[in-house]
Amino acid sequence: MPTQSNVSSAVGPAAARAWPPAVLPPLLDRAVADAVYGAPHTLLALVARYGSPLHLVWPHLLQQNVATFRDVLDSHGVPHQLFYGAKVNKSQALMRAAVQAGIGIDVSSIHEMADALRAGADPARLCATGPAKTAAFHAALLHQGALNAVDSPEEFAELERCVPAMPAATSKARVLLRYRPHASGDSRFGMGGGALLACLQRLARQRDRFVFEGFHFHLGGYAWEPRAQAIRELDRYVEAARGLGLAPRYLDIGGGMPIRYVDGDACDRYLDAQGPDDYRHGTVPASFYPYGGRHGAAGWLAALLAAPGPGQHTIAAYLAASGMTLALEPGRSLVDQAAVSAFRITRVKQTAPGRHVVFVEGSSFSACETWFASEFLVDPVLVSAAPRPAAAPGTPVRAYIAGHSCLDDDVLTNRLIAFPHQPQAGDLLVFANTAGYQMDLLENEFHRHPLPRRIALTPNAHGGMDVSIDHSWKE
Ligand SMILES: *Cc1c(COP(=O)(O)O)cnc(C)c1O
Repeated sequence: MPTQSNVSSAVGPAAARAWPPAVLPPLLDRAVADAVYGAPHTLLALVARYGSPLHLVWPHLLQQNVATFRDVLDSHGVPHQLFYGAKVNKSQALMRAAVQAGIGIDVSSIHEMADALRAGADPARLCATGPAKTAAFHAALLHQGALNAVDSPEEFAELERCVPAMPAATSKARVLLRYRPHASGDSRFGMGGGALLACLQRLARQRDRFVFEGFHFHLGGYAWEPRAQAIRELDRYVEAARGLGLAPRYLDIGGGMPIRYVDGDACDRYLDAQGPDDYRHGTVPASFYPYGGRHGAAGWLAALLAAPGPGQHTIAAYLAASGMTLALEPGRSLVDQAAVSAFRITRVKQTAPGRHVVFVEGSSFSACETWFASEFLVDPVLVSAAPRPAAAPGTPVRAYIAGHSCLDDDVLTNRLIAFPHQPQAGDLLVFANTAGYQMDLLENEFHRHPLPRRIALTPNAHGGMDVSIDHSWKE
């Protein structure tokens, strides 16, 4: 099993060079920029050693993101509890980093729960806010004393049947109730007001078996305004719970805090100027993630906390006055910057005059949005392995990027990416900020290619980075 080694010992040809993309260059944390632009030969050596694509993971950046969240919450005087939305990435190193940062873990399955416990998570700081729970998962959550967000009266009835079967020594079942805000009235997740009140009454009658800990919601989309609205809507149910003698402790707003991938102005310029000619198949996607959003998670959270809450208060003041703890389950925003995915180029093929496709070792399962009929609006960084003679700088080319799939429409990008010169076999394309639902959400062994490797890079005492294999527990 490969173990620790130092990046700086993996010295490659000094001729390697990384080219900053001209159109949509990624915003990079310094540690990531140092690796991509400062040590391109090392990247080439790591891909040579571990294969393509290779996911490079920086667990300490998750901890940096935790610190940023805490700063905002503390500066607003808001009692808080963060849970890492572990479904965002399968990396065990990121799971461990979250545990070491002292936050809880939001687990969506018994398997995520097992990984969280292996990473050393405190069982009392596990929560399960996802709606799809099996009987075995319920039993495990109860057994561990974890927090369970109940999605429906039907799920609550299952728990009612399950709780008496618990050994007498185990503590009561800790539950949140998941609310369905007006903004997502058609969603299959959560409960409307009537069902919520009925569950509160059932909880009030069963205080010997259940501890009601508060309310939860999770909304799609990335705007803070609907979350502020949902908090205002929930106030009457907080009052109703108290009227029944219950003591809600958490107001849990789920995840969905945005991250910034590219400069906002650059993104706007691209979106304004784009047309069918910028895409392999002549089709501009109907929607995109807000890659160039002006708010990162910190600004987003500050805006939410300063928004009007129930009564005359801001949301921050409402939380402080009502003695409630704000719970959050960020996934994407906690892994902001925490990984890049490097693909080695196999060949570049001309399909028509002036039209090229770049083939890489890897697939659209490891970095793309084309499966969602959209595009990852972040240009990959070209890392060239060999020097270009100064006399032959090459002409810029635009190309789309394909992996090893046999399906014509299965590509990493339909978007034509501008390169300063024609990439060469053996060069790398490095996609930045892939930790959030990019690098491994869809990964599989199509064509029987093994799953890509992950390596973790951790700052060491000498100012360098230690490299270790980021094992999952199935390996
Ligand atoms: C996916 C999910 C999250 C995390 O969402 P992000 O957009 O990654 O922050 C949190 N809560 C629930 C219930 C989820 O389904």
